[in-house]
Amino acid sequence: MRAQAHADDPSAAEVLARGCLFPVRTVTGVWVRCGTRIKSRCPSCAELYRGDWAAIARSGVFDGPVEQYRFYLLTLTAPSFGGVHRVPRDSGRKPPRCGCGSTHTSGDSALRGVPLDPSSYDYAGQVAWNRDAGVLWDRTRRRMRDRWDSLEYFIVREWQDRGVLHIHAVVRIVRTEAPSPDALRDAARTATAFSKVDGASVEWGAQAKCDAFRADGDGAKTIWYLSKALNYVLKDVATDSGDVPVHVWRHQVALSDAARRMRCSPDCDPQDCGSLVHKRYGSRSQVVSASRRTKHRTGWSFTGLTRTVQRRLRREWWESRLRDEAAEDVPAVPPAPLEDLAARSRRELIARGWSAP
Ligand SMILES: [Zn+2]
Ligand SMILES: [Zn+2]
Ligand SMILES: [Zn+2]
Repeated sequence: MRAQAHADDPSAAEVLARGCLFPVRTVTGVWVRCGTRIKSRCPSCAELYRGDWAAIARSGVFDGPVEQYRFYLLTLTAPSFGGVHRVPRDSGRKPPRCGCGSTHTSGDSALRGVPLDPSSYDYAGQVAWNRDAGVLWDRTRRRMRDRWDSLEYFIVREWQDRGVLHIHAVVRIVRTEAPSPDALRDAARTATAFSKVDGASVEWGAQAKCDAFRADGDGAKTIWYLSKALNYVLKDVATDSGDVPVHVWRHQVALSDAARRMRCSPDCDPQDCGSLVHKRYGSRSQVVSASRRTKHRTGWSFTGLTRTVQRRLRREWWESRLRDEAAEDVPAVPPAPLEDLAARSRRELIARGWSAP
């Protein structure tokens, strides 16, 4: 019962309750959270970030007339920039043979994501792709909306072992115009864009996946999958640990080097450009995002939940608590969509008869 263990994991709530490690004092003298999403920096703020986004993800699946929609889980990857070793994560399944000729086991993690031939690997191409991935997603979502106007999405960008981004998107389309998963996948995967920096064409890799689901069916499975993806959000770059095997480390150095030397904008001078893009293998995108509410659109969240709204609700709750404390009448329950996430997801998982994906 992995699902139960995951949903019941008490550490998330505990971590959150421990509070921010590096609170910042504002000019008005109020203490606020450091607000990082990086777990190694501040576990409590990172958990808050993950929880907030998880709530937004859920509110676009469960908080509306779900029977009117079809949902999809779409994964898009980057193209190949040279062969890498294929090392399985668990020893359960028999892995495919690697390009180097051997069949790796999970014990070969020192080679995971490492190029087969570093001397011919396209490091510059890879960091440029990371840099332009945002423009490519922009073209992709516009292309999908041109075909299916009701489309809304929630996306998480995750690092692959080779140091390139890939995208998990939960997509919602009104049933009356909903395409087959294959049609959606192909429309997304074949979208192309042009780099705003060097004009080069930017494309997705051949590997893409799309599954359809019903929120009144196996939606909880998808939410479990998303929560899993959201855990990657808490890491800064592909590897966040201090103890890195030497081949992996060399690969990271080569990528960092390429990112240091590329231009991040048409008039960037890499020598003395301070943009963080040069430090994140070229990536500039936000890690998580969702389609926004406009005059003509619901946006991803049926209830209009955004991080701004969440921050405001939290602030209002604390302010009212402070007022009530003064009046010796402390409310025990925080506002529902924010602090009660663990309990809520547990209810959803149980109610929907969760099974392992
Ligand atoms: Zn913090
Ligand atoms: Zn290999
Ligand atoms: Zn730059």
